[in-house]
Amino acid sequence: MGIRENLEAVRARIEAACERAGRDVRDVVLLPVSKTKPIEMLEEMAALGETRFGENHVQEIVQKKALHPEYVFHMIGHLQRNKVKDAVGRVELIHSVDSLRLAKEISKESLKKGVVSDVLLEINAGCEESKFGYAFEEAEDAVREIAALPAVRIRGFMCVAPNVSDPEENRPIFRKMYDLSVDIGNKKIDNVKTDILSMGMTNDFEIAVEEGATIIRIGTALFGRREYQEVEK
Ligand SMILES: *Cc1c(COP(=O)(O)O)cnc(C)c1O
Repeated sequence: MGIRENLEAVRARIEAACERAGRDVRDVVLLPVSKTKPIEMLEEMAALGETRFGENHVQEIVQKKALHPEYVFHMIGHLQRNKVKDAVGRVELIHSVDSLRLAKEISKESLKKGVVSDVLLEINAGCEESKFGYAFEEAEDAVREIAALPAVRIRGFMCVAPNVSDPEENRPIFRKMYDLSVDIGNKKIDNVKTDILSMGMTNDFEIAVEEGATIIRIGTALFGRREYQEVEK
């Protein structure tokens, strides 16, 4: 199948999930994840109306954005502090803030560039040792510390759920993410919005939509399998 057919199929599945959950399909943003994929595939996707892309390496964002400044990029992978300067100002949203040190660096660079950076806090929702992110119990303190920084704006939470064979296994995790988002929202912390909940990937996005995701990050179902295992670092 080509990209067009893949996109139509994914859109239909999102619509069906929204229908099951009584949600408005306009409240769910599809973020095609184009990491490792050549620019031609992004161009093909853009021709079909999707011009926002998720990437997990800053260098790839720099290269692709140089070719197509009109595309909008989201940083969804682990962000090293020495790459922050290349990300700030180039991305619409950083999904993967997982430490105060990183948030401080983002704030510092944003101040320098005269921008405010929108960020999500990454939650290690499956409590996996191999994954980045805050534990659920750490989230509120982290939100309060990061919200006090001058040039970042918290918009919500993100998680990479475990890679399970039956996506239903991730439903309780997505539910906990939604509850966290509502909880923190109710605390009315200054400079904190919880309007974005980034969760759900190729394997489990329908469950994530049913449980309240507002951004779903989809690579494989749109662009096909990635040629090589991307290194998480
Ligand atoms: C690669 C990646 C995705 C997309 O994964 P698929 O299973 O290919 O849809 C989503 N989120 C993050 C953080 C990723 O690194």
